[in-house]
Amino acid sequence: MINLLKNKKISKTPFRKEVLAIFNKYNNAIPLSVVEKELKAFNRITLYRTIKVFLEKGIIHEITINGEVSNYAICKEECDTLGHHHQHIHFKCTSCGIIFCVEVDKFPTIILPKYKINQLEIQAIGLCQNCNL
Ligand SMILES: [Zn+2]
Ligand SMILES: [Zn+2]
Ligand SMILES: [Zn+2]
Repeated sequence: MINLLKNKKISKTPFRKEVLAIFNKYNNAIPLSVVEKELKAFNRITLYRTIKVFLEKGIIHEITINGEVSNYAICKEECDTLGHHHQHIHFKCTSCGIIFCVEVDKFPTIILPKYKINQLEIQAIGLCQNCNL
C-alpha cells in the first residue's frame, strides 16, 4: 500500500495513507460517503483534493452507472498519469446496490475504424454473487 504511493510518485502524507487504506479495505467500489464515514476527522477540501490526485495518478478510478453517485475503486492494473487501462467489468447489483470491479478471463478488444479508443469501459447490471443465491 505504501509502495503503491511510492511507485506513483506522490508524497505519502498520513492523510493519503489513511484514505488509501480505506479503499484497500473494500473489495468493491465505494462512494465518497463511505470514505467520509470511515475517516475519523477530515477536511472536505483535503479529501476532494486527495481523491483528485489519486484519480490523476491512476491509483483509483471513478465509476458512474446510470448517472448515479460516483463510486471509486483501487486500480489493480497498470494505470498511471497517462490514463486508466482497466481490463475488468463494472457490475452493479440491483439488490444490494454495490458496484464491483469484476475480473474477466478475456477482456474484449474492440476496433472502431477511424476512431481512437483511449479508454473502454464495460458496465453490467444484475445480481452479485451474494444476492444471486
Ligand atoms: Zn485505473
Ligand atoms: Zn448484491
Ligand atoms: Zn473498476
